[in-house]
Amino acid sequence: MDARSDPLPKGRLSSGDGIDTPIQFVKGVGPKLGSVFKSRGIETVKDLLFFFPRTYEDRSKLFKIEELADGSKVTVAVTVLSQRQIPIRKFGRSMLEVRCTEAHSESGAVLTLKWFHAPRGLEKRLLPGVSLLVTGKVKIFQNRPEIVHPEMTWGVADADISAQTGKKVGAHAGRVVPIYVEIEDVPTRTLRNVLWAAVEKFSEFISEDLPHYLLEKHNFPTASFAVRGLHFPPESDGFDLLSLAEFRTPSHQRLIYEEFFKFEYLMLRRRMQGERTYAVAFASLKAKDHVSTLIGLLPFELTAGQRQSLGDILLDLAEAHPMNRLIQGDVGSGKTAVALLSAAYVIHQGGQVAMMVPTEILAEQHFKSAKFLFQGQLNVALLTGKTPATERAELQARLLVGEPLLLIGTHALLEAPVVFAKLSYILIDEQHRFGVEQRSVFKAKGERVDPVDLKSGKLLLPHSLLLTATPIPRTLALTAFGDLRVSSIRELPPGRSPVATQVVREKPDKARAFQQIRKELTAGRQAFFIYPLINESEAEGFTQLKSAVVEAELLAKEVFPEFSIGLLHGQLASAEKEDVMQKFKRAETQILVSTTVVEVGVDVPNASIMLIEHAERFGLSQLHQLRGRVGRGKHQSYCFLFTGKNKDGAAAQRLEVLEECHDGFQIAEADLEIRGPGEFLGTRQAGGLPFRLANLVRDRDWLFKARDDAMAIVREDFELTLPKYEKFQKYFNREGGIQYKRLKTS
Ligand code: ADP
Ligand code: MG
Repeated sequence: MDARSDPLPKGRLSSGDGIDTPIQFVKGVGPKLGSVFKSRGIETVKDLLFFFPRTYEDRSKLFKIEELADGSKVTVAVTVLSQRQIPIRKFGRSMLEVRCTEAHSESGAVLTLKWFHAPRGLEKRLLPGVSLLVTGKVKIFQNRPEIVHPEMTWGVADADISAQTGKKVGAHAGRVVPIYVEIEDVPTRTLRNVLWAAVEKFSEFISEDLPHYLLEKHNFPTASFAVRGLHFPPESDGFDLLSLAEFRTPSHQRLIYEEFFKFEYLMLRRRMQGERTYAVAFASLKAKDHVSTLIGLLPFELTAGQRQSLGDILLDLAEAHPMNRLIQGDVGSGKTAVALLSAAYVIHQGGQVAMMVPTEILAEQHFKSAKFLFQGQLNVALLTGKTPATERAELQARLLVGEPLLLIGTHALLEAPVVFAKLSYILIDEQHRFGVEQRSVFKAKGERVDPVDLKSGKLLLPHSLLLTATPIPRTLALTAFGDLRVSSIRELPPGRSPVATQVVREKPDKARAFQQIRKELTAGRQAFFIYPLINESEAEGFTQLKSAVVEAELLAKEVFPEFSIGLLHGQLASAEKEDVMQKFKRAETQILVSTTVVEVGVDVPNASIMLIEHAERFGLSQLHQLRGRVGRGKHQSYCFLFTGKNKDGAAAQRLEVLEECHDGFQIAEADLEIRGPGEFLGTRQAGGLPFRLANLVRDRDWLFKARDDAMAIVREDFELTLPKYEKFQKYFNREGGIQYKRLKTS
């Protein structure tokens, strides 16, 4: 059958009403099942139809007992004849043997099922007369077929079993059957019955939202065909179980594409229509001159990557749509200077700018650089948890009258009393340290009702710029980050020598490393020592992992008694952390023992040693970030990656990448290859996206295609007036771009 010319009653196709019916109208859904569904957010027939199978089971071919061949894997519908338990003396327990005939067959042929380890209570279920499907590998033993430890499908009704004779195809047998995620303790069989009924009666009402030319372009079936095909794959499709299980059938691909397409379309459209920004392009020439002047004040030349990124940003800032951009650049590549220059551009046009950073130390550091780098030519203020109340009040007054300035701060920026008159540009440093929620609260500080168009209630949004040393995969940039554009700084400023890096496995080598560290410390340098745990009690059960607290004491007493040692970790109060960090910055302590909390961009140019214990426990990118804490001054710097000997062979070996490679982008790629995308993406950031079928890793190619297609539509016909967009336009008017509400997961 040609899926695109699905013979459905034309008049009803576009209505969309049928599937908005409450689920009670589906056969088999009583009040009890209805309320179970509702607790999961499944309220209408549409919700139900878009509750898709998790996987499939092939019950399309049922074998006859007479035709069973040695070694073949088969499914047979059987009825139990008798059972017996045969003691196995050697093991002190018994074997269960069940003799069956074929269900609905007069042949009299017998199949024997055997369990050497029968699940508890199985003998009580396999009583004579019971019918079930068994699947497994056939063995011919003494001329009779038997299956050892078969898989069993219970509760297959007689009517279903008779289906394989060709008289009737049911939901549970004689076909590839769907397996659903369990909802409370509703059996899969019940779910399958309900969906069978829903699909039969309502799937024809599913509206086709995609323009016809896209179906043709990608060779997709219609929506209603695809939904039906996902629940009860038609035999005529001829798809093997694997492509079903991997969501690779055209029906799957179509629905996956559709999820991406609708999402991307909505995002692009919102961005180009409803969202304007108010740091508009007036006087932009003068502002550019101003930026050039500031560049002239810098004590260094910008690198090519810095210039390129700044150029990207200035172009975006001159547009009427809010910028959504990321600067991705290795530790020490000079992202801050680029960010500050772009802030200067907006300030010069009368806008207010805010930059959020994850720690107080970093906020102060940026505040100082902003003043120092531009010789006081940049209007900048600082707000952290430490800012005294009087200063805070004064600052708030300045913000409210709309003084053009750059406000650098910590999470304190998110607090309610911090109100800007015209925050038109927000920046987030070390973006991976912030959650989705914090990013959106921050952004909301800059939202205003459009004064040009008060009636529409449209919002003006601020431009936004994220900074990170950890590259974001493109799939996430396009989804979780709302169509983020990326600029990369691929080089370090000149004159930096790479940090000499060494993986250290053997005890004597570790002792030698300590000697070298002592030499550096004696010469006036400082060192970071990083441990995976704060305290030993943190670890569950027996462990030999070293912890910061214990090692700090040990180092002070036994290894480096002549030097003073600071201890930093996440359980300290923030004032304490601050104090420890300041002491290290002022070189009052020589060694800073820490957990990975120092990962974030702190600048201590005098530190030349980075020692990481149990380095095999960390990802390469994270190690690279840690290593970036040293090598920031004029001294040659060293990084020692301590690791166990041989024990974690493969894990330790991957660390050698770091000895050779100093390019954060390459390292991130190696990480991706070694650890796989799942770990890299992090469910935290990928979660919360409105995709049911689509998977950002598996289906990334569809995401890119869907995005290109959506972009072409937005560009060609923003208001969807062309006849070819009629269906999509209807969908858009009807649902406002929402594809379906989110299902509750538990
Ligand atoms: P990151 O990209 O890790 O945030 P920073 O912005 O903190 O890096 O820059 C690291 C150091 O390099 C800072 O001290 C900064 O002043 C300096 N720096 C930035 N750009 C240049 C440049 N083009 N040439 C020399 N030094 C630079
Ligand atoms: Mg930085």
